[in-house]
Amino acid sequence: MRLNTKIIHAGAEPDPSTGAIMTPIYQTSTYVQEAPGKNKGYEYARSQNPTRTALETALAALENAKFGLSFSSGVAATDAVIKLLSPGDEVIASNDLYGGSYRMFSKIFQKFGIKFHYINMHDASHVSDYINENTKLIWLETPTNPLMNITDIEAVTAIAKPHNILVCVDNTFASPYLQNPLDLGADIVMHSATKYLGGHSDVIHGCLMMNDQELRDKLFFIQKSCGAVPGPQDCFLVLRGIKTLHVRMQRHCENGEKVAQFLRNHPKVERVYWCGFEDSPNFEIARKQMRGFGGMMSFTLKDDSIETATKVLSSTKVFALAESLGGIESLINHPASMTHASIPQEERIKNGLSDSLIRLSVGIEDAEDLIEDLNQAIG
Ligand SMILES: *Cc1c(COP(=O)(O)O)cnc(C)c1O
Repeated sequence: MRLNTKIIHAGAEPDPSTGAIMTPIYQTSTYVQEAPGKNKGYEYARSQNPTRTALETALAALENAKFGLSFSSGVAATDAVIKLLSPGDEVIASNDLYGGSYRMFSKIFQKFGIKFHYINMHDASHVSDYINENTKLIWLETPTNPLMNITDIEAVTAIAKPHNILVCVDNTFASPYLQNPLDLGADIVMHSATKYLGGHSDVIHGCLMMNDQELRDKLFFIQKSCGAVPGPQDCFLVLRGIKTLHVRMQRHCENGEKVAQFLRNHPKVERVYWCGFEDSPNFEIARKQMRGFGGMMSFTLKDDSIETATKVLSSTKVFALAESLGGIESLINHPASMTHASIPQEERIKNGLSDSLIRLSVGIEDAEDLIEDLNQAIG
């Protein structure tokens, strides 16, 4: 089956008891057993729930994976991956990372004796410099948040394989519609389904997809033991959101390109970070591993003061000032004070994230309205 058909049909079997075409919300904590140990594959809802099973089947299909596991949030999915590790293990992570991932690694897991190296993965060969016998995981995000840097997934996995190092890709920004990291050699794909997969800004959810049975069993054991599972209503919302992923992503890409070009030509804009510009760093790699460039972008103004940035952020009428991304509506965000506030200022500046940087999640409204809105806000 091709991608658009899978998006609609994967995991969606008519309900066996009624024929309901849409997966019911199985709002139950437990399942009646015929005899001790004799059940229909469902025992207790922390371990299994039919609505969740349908979603996990759909999620796996979207990433060309054998298995999918769904969690109560994106960070819960990340948490499960790090719990594969033991004290003394080392992780190599992108330095231009989702703020919440950085916070979890540095504030929660570091104290359990796991060592994290945050490095620039722009040049994938840089990863080799940090590999030693304790390296167990490479955690990367591409495109990165908020600077839209691209990492060559195939090149990183080629470096990791001979050392038996797991590679996990946070694929939230691209969505499975634009990029499939497992096909490029990664071991695990992680998504915050709160973003493009759910797509409607109405649910918090996360997931992991993988091909290796042993890895799946370990992650399932962590999920069941630690309990960060989603409720069936949330699973239903993500399943429903996924059904329009392809049409939404097409529009996000079209609008993204129009808004990026508008900003680039605006006299008051200094720099636009969007991975679809042919002269953007690693454009060739983006084109090789992605099927489109999406609706995420950031920009700085020629007047680099925080006051001017604040004025733009407070003046948009269609773009709503809010954290998060990937929904149908357009959002505007100030990474330094919002999504990336948990990264110390010194660290932010070092990684090229200036205090005046503005991030956009371009939605699927009329592009002309979005452009007019930005135009009046930038003034
Ligand atoms: C939002 C986000 C997360 C965290 O996901 P939640 O669903 O908010 O827990 C992780 N990575 C990226 C890139 C994100 O945008």
